Amino acid sequence: MKIERNQIVEKLIQIVGNQRVITDEQVLKDSSFDRFRKYEGYHHIYTQPIPSALVYVKSAQEVSEILQFANDNHINVVPRTGHSATEGGLETAVENTIIIDGSKMNNIVKIDTYNMQATCQCGVSLQVLDDLLREQGYTTGHSPQSKPLAQMGGLVATRSIGQFSTLYGGIEDMVVGVEAVFPNGEIAKIKNVPRRAAGPDIRHVVIGNEGALCYITEVTVKIFKFMPDNNVFLGFTLDHMKTGFEILREVMVNGYKPSVARLYDVEDGAYHFSHFAKDKCVLIFMAEGPKGITEATAKAIEEIVSRYDECKKVEDHYIKEWFDDLNWDPKKIEEEKVEILETKNVGNTTEVSSNWGKIIDIYQVCIERIRKEIPDITMVGAHSSHSYLNGTNLYFVYYYDVNCKPEEEISKYHLPIKKIIVEETLNAGGSMCHHHGVGKHRAPWIQEEYGSSYYILETLKKAFDPNGIMNAGTIIPIKK
Ligand SMILES: Cc1cc2nc3c(=O)[nH]c(=O)nc-3n(C[C@H](O)[C@H](O)[C@H](O)COP(=O)(O)OP(=O)(O)OC[C@H]3O[C@@H](n4cnc5c(N)ncnc54)[C@H](O)[C@@H]3O)c2cc1C
Repeated sequence: MKIERNQIVEKLIQIVGNQRVITDEQVLKDSSFDRFRKYEGYHHIYTQPIPSALVYVKSAQEVSEILQFANDNHINVVPRTGHSATEGGLETAVENTIIIDGSKMNNIVKIDTYNMQATCQCGVSLQVLDDLLREQGYTTGHSPQSKPLAQMGGLVATRSIGQFSTLYGGIEDMVVGVEAVFPNGEIAKIKNVPRRAAGPDIRHVVIGNEGALCYITEVTVKIFKFMPDNNVFLGFTLDHMKTGFEILREVMVNGYKPSVARLYDVEDGAYHFSHFAKDKCVLIFMAEGPKGITEATAKAIEEIVSRYDECKKVEDHYIKEWFDDLNWDPKKIEEEKVEILETKNVGNTTEVSSNWGKIIDIYQVCIERIRKEIPDITMVGAHSSHSYLNGTNLYFVYYYDVNCKPEEEISKYHLPIKKIIVEETLNAGGSMCHHHGVGKHRAPWIQEEYGSSYYILETLKKAFDPNGIMNAGTIIPIKK
């Protein structure tokens, strides 16, 4: 029998008390979407089913009781922490969804500088944790642009990556152990050890699950020594993206580990570096760590770059200054909102990855098709911001003037652009998601992304979430 909205609210109050169950209509409307629908949201247009309640949890036990109730009654839940998602992971795609918000689970449980790890509840802000660590001479090494917004649960759930990833890796390289709650109420804790060979690495069932398999309640991450005095910044202008990709590849395949290795095309670069790089691509590197290593890394990179005549060095301070202002906080989000409402010019992004052999083709074909096929485009560009031994990522940035009703913006502009990038990347054998997650808007291509390994993903979903209550439509599309 279908359970009514007021019965859902009553049960939630029974579990956590009435202070932490929110039913205010405006709050619920604002909780029915994420930044994928920011343009609709700025116009107070709500196209998603309004959730039944938003509930703030304070312990794994409370999450367990709520999930058991939702599972028994086939009620959809959307896990949430920092609310900075960009791909529709927070959209409440079905009626009567419960939003389980972990942002009040914000205790830093333990900072263990001998064993070099920190344990946090899911709602700990990355900015807060990293600031605290830096005061003591340590860092998480994790620095996504959303560092002031995102929280540990969401960062692990989306398989996030930070700007210093070339040295420290993505969150998957940092997570030591994790605690998660499954739809049947089971609380599962994976212990903290340096390595294990005891069967499959089940941390990866949890990391990147986007709230579609389980609820993350606690995370333990590695910490690193923080030595900012040794940082070296390098910047170069150049004429061609192809040359830039070649240089990035040379740096990576020869075993150097700068913390930052980024390549901007002319259009994207113009947004950031117009004061020193007019009509030029821009290459940026940063080396971190012990002095001997940073100096050797910087020297080697300069030597590699010097082989390419078109590269011209820029003053290092430009690069440092740019980094200092890169992250997004609530103030920048508010400024963006004002500008978008004033200009009707909207910017969005899509990030993909591929092996070195295909990256330039993906870059060229996507830029060409977007310019040709999408109306009202005012800017399209891209940068590579995370490189690996065997390839790199591409982060497409695009702006368009919205010449339609706010609720048509997604179907007229945002999705057609995403479709071009996703399809061209998949055709070239790349991955359609580098770090923002699948959310709900790349789910239609999930079978193509996985190929024959989709069997493993689908089996995980069926095993852990047989009633399909975990974030319906995220990663795996809702069957029509
Ligand atoms: C301006 C801006 C810059 C960004 N820069 C980066 C970047 O540099 N690198 C990067 O990787 N990402 C970036 N992002 C994307 C986003 O910040 C990350 O995906 C981040 O990890 C989300 O964390 P959150 O706490 O805000 O999660 P939320 O937005 O609350 O949730 C994100 C997803 O995770 C799920 N989820 C949240 N909490 C839990 C939980 N406890 N258990 C299970 N599932 C959960 C949600 O259901 C949702 O699907 C950026 C976003 C913005 C707006």
